[in-house]
Amino acid sequence: MKRSFLSASAVLLTLAWTCLGAAPRPNILFIMSDDHAAHAISAYGSRINRTPHLDRLAEAGMRFDNCFCVNSICSPSRATILTGKYSHLNGVPTFNRFDGSQPTVAKYLQTAGYHTGIVGKWHLGSEPTGFDRWIVLPGQGLYYDPDFIDPDGRRKIPGYVTDIITDLAIEFLRNRPADKPFFLMCHHKAPHRAWEPSPKYREEFSRKTFPEPATLWDDYRGRADAIRECAQKVSQNLTRRDLKLEPPPGLAPAERNRWLSTAPDEVEVELDGARHILRGNALTAWKYQRYMQDYLGCVQSVDDSVGRLVGWLDEHGLGTNTVVIYTSDQGFFLGDHGLYDKRFMYEESLRMPFLVRWPAATRPNSVQEALVINPDFAPTFLELAGVPVPADMQGRSLVPLLQGRQPADWRTSFYYRYYHDPGDHNTRAHYGVRTQTHKLIHFWKQDQWEMYDLRVDPEELRNVYHEPHLQSTVAKLKAELYRLKQAVKDEDQFADRQPPHDVGGPEPRQKGKQPAAKQPKA
Ligand code: CA
Repeated sequence: MKRSFLSASAVLLTLAWTCLGAAPRPNILFIMSDDHAAHAISAYGSRINRTPHLDRLAEAGMRFDNCFCVNSICSPSRATILTGKYSHLNGVPTFNRFDGSQPTVAKYLQTAGYHTGIVGKWHLGSEPTGFDRWIVLPGQGLYYDPDFIDPDGRRKIPGYVTDIITDLAIEFLRNRPADKPFFLMCHHKAPHRAWEPSPKYREEFSRKTFPEPATLWDDYRGRADAIRECAQKVSQNLTRRDLKLEPPPGLAPAERNRWLSTAPDEVEVELDGARHILRGNALTAWKYQRYMQDYLGCVQSVDDSVGRLVGWLDEHGLGTNTVVIYTSDQGFFLGDHGLYDKRFMYEESLRMPFLVRWPAATRPNSVQEALVINPDFAPTFLELAGVPVPADMQGRSLVPLLQGRQPADWRTSFYYRYYHDPGDHNTRAHYGVRTQTHKLIHFWKQDQWEMYDLRVDPEELRNVYHEPHLQSTVAKLKAELYRLKQAVKDEDQFADRQPPHDVGGPEPRQKGKQPAAKQPKA
């Protein structure tokens, strides 16, 4: 029913455009990296790196300063972006296999006459649906000489993953049918852990040092137990493999693996021509530097990729009528609160970079403060394409914001929920509400709460939930939390949704063959 309505709409839209001689519908290039925090982009004020190509994108268009995910982890964010729905409605609260028979933005656009494609990371288990062309990594994929899967099977492509994904995106653009607008999702694997930069940037970044974040030495005083209990701490949980330490020679394979998979409590390094043993805080400071050298080295290739893709569009006369978007599936802790990874509803992990270049409508160098969430992406793509937004999508189109108009009834709060407990990092499940000024978080299994006043405590160091004089604010935020929870139809208050297993990635189509073996999670 919906599909035939859409088909009819597509025909009418095409006719209307043709008869009115209207400008052709815009192409959409959606570039998404994996775990790239906004505070590692110089357009967002990074203190630790420069990203010239992303900065140019921001200068040419709009930088969204308050774009957030509603469940800060890879597969759920991807499912939300495809469906315009929260995790509890799209079936992917953790690493569940995505049901590809459900409606997605790709299917709606394909039906409306767009040439659709996805290249790079997918990580939703099932095969991509709604794409005229797809070629994706199995599961997390590899940084070097990765395998890719497309409808014809699985094959290895030699080279560095970020460069290969960029090549595949350009190949899609080059081979697209000339008589259709395109929708391309270019999904980078980088800078996901295990942070393996290209040889060029590995060398360049190994010589750099970075300022420490203000909250690297956070002592978690006054906070709920969750942050103390989590296993995503730079000091305690980065393994020797993460830190790229060389195992001693002669270890048996199992022993070698155990050595690499555990965190060192001391490391011997060469400083100023002498050998030193690092322990305690000196070791944590060193681990932070090693982490940033590799993470930011990976980011630099992503920035180069954006430069290549935007350059290709401009050189081929597609710059004016293509909406280019850059985002990441969530944020990331870059030593903030002493952490790496994401998951928590704290700002560094919750915030997504979101840059949009749309020459036809968006003023250069503009900054958008409105609260925006990843369920908004699908409705935005649909409105750009002139396709009606289905009533069951939970986000709202960003097109008015891109045109410089903020609707009077724009949201002033949003709902968040994280499920993967204990997951790989012993992170407690929680839900919460963020407004323009405050955040309230409920770790429901422990019935512990945190509240932050972001106006005076943007680093979220002071949990004011128990402050007697703030109880009316607590009450208001709780009322808003439960209002939003109901509004987004999240009705199971205390459900413990455990992942059945990591879904990995789709396997080539072979009759009777079951999906791939387990992949590293997140
Ligand atoms: Ca991610």
